[in-house]
Amino acid sequence: MGWPSLLALKCFWEGKLLITPVMPTYARVDVAFERGEGVYLFDTNGKRYLDFGSGIAVNALGHCHPHLVQALQAQAATLWHTSNMYNVPGQQKLAERLVANTFADSVFFANSGAEAVECGLKMIRKYHADDGHPERYRVIACNNAFHGRTMATIAAGGQEKHLAGFAPATDGFDHVAFGNLNEMRAAITPETAAILVEPIQGEGGVRPASKEYLKGLRDIADEFGLLLFYDEVQCGMGRTGKLFAYQWGDAAPDIMAVAKGLGGGFPVGACLATENVAKALTAGSHGSTFGGNPLAMAAANAVMDVMEDPDFMEGVDAIADLLWRRLRALTKDHPKVIDEVRGAGLMIGLKCVVENTVLRAKLHEQGLLTVGAADNILRLLPPLIIDEANVGEALAMIDAACVAIEKEQS
Ligand SMILES: *Cc1c(COP(=O)(O)O)cnc(C)c1O
Repeated sequence: MGWPSLLALKCFWEGKLLITPVMPTYARVDVAFERGEGVYLFDTNGKRYLDFGSGIAVNALGHCHPHLVQALQAQAATLWHTSNMYNVPGQQKLAERLVANTFADSVFFANSGAEAVECGLKMIRKYHADDGHPERYRVIACNNAFHGRTMATIAAGGQEKHLAGFAPATDGFDHVAFGNLNEMRAAITPETAAILVEPIQGEGGVRPASKEYLKGLRDIADEFGLLLFYDEVQCGMGRTGKLFAYQWGDAAPDIMAVAKGLGGGFPVGACLATENVAKALTAGSHGSTFGGNPLAMAAANAVMDVMEDPDFMEGVDAIADLLWRRLRALTKDHPKVIDEVRGAGLMIGLKCVVENTVLRAKLHEQGLLTVGAADNILRLLPPLIIDEANVGEALAMIDAACVAIEKEQS
């Protein structure tokens, strides 16, 4: 502990609190938005922004998509909540659709990404316990991973910056280098239960796993009787031009966590699994008061209505292709600001040469919203509904921001 600041002394003297009523857990940009319309947000001063952050990959269909608004308004006027003591028809409908479109046979509904991951972690332990191997409880995850902020998911993520001060960390997680199959194999012990991986690491710096890596993980899991658990909370729900990122290859998991884009802005998470694994969670073994409530299901089913149209994903693919080509060309013009474009589809990381916060602030001034990530990455996570004109607008702002930064450098 150092000396109290002058501000702290002044507050103490005046009998005031230093802390804000909203707990100060975020380093917030000092702006508040009042209204959203498609790919645009309007702040309280009326300034318009092109939203290439989508609330961190959440507003997959932009803001106030008419179909989502209609679905949620209709549900809000009908029924909000009943509890999982009863059947919730919206859950049945959404689960059937997720099952029809993935490897999974069954779905548990939660309210967030961390809860979806948590459900998968519990399923892993229960599966092996039911199998007569309660000693198999350890999960191997990857360096630079992010799986949420609960006690178990910060342990799964393994990031010192998220664990600091919260010791003892939840036991049961080992970490190896992302992309390294030899390290993964070497880390397996008789206590290993599963492998947990993001098919594209998001917070860790927009690092896509290769198809070969995921296939290798599938083979290792099969060889050692481990479960393969994908965290597609960020890279799923159409972000890469397929409903789920793993669908670009042929290595399906046993368990998958989904959230962010699933509700298009309404909080909802889901944990998908094959029958053989999902059956471990019998009645009473897991639950959630709010999970899969009628409002959340109305929003997520409306998102699925839009995304199930094959033309929609083709559109995402095509616009992503254009954005990548334009960004690669722009990067060549500004090598002192941006070094590399990485990621997949509309989950894009710009590896910055300058501090990513500097580029992000300049883009904010221009009217383009972006998100930072580890490894000095600036993330572009536009709504999946962007068109050619939006790509043009974004590129003009990125170009102008780069020029402004270069001017300051010289
Ligand atoms: C955002 C995220 C989470 C956590 O989701 P919350 O809804 O914030 O709990 C988990 N995993 C990944 C890959 C994420 O990007």
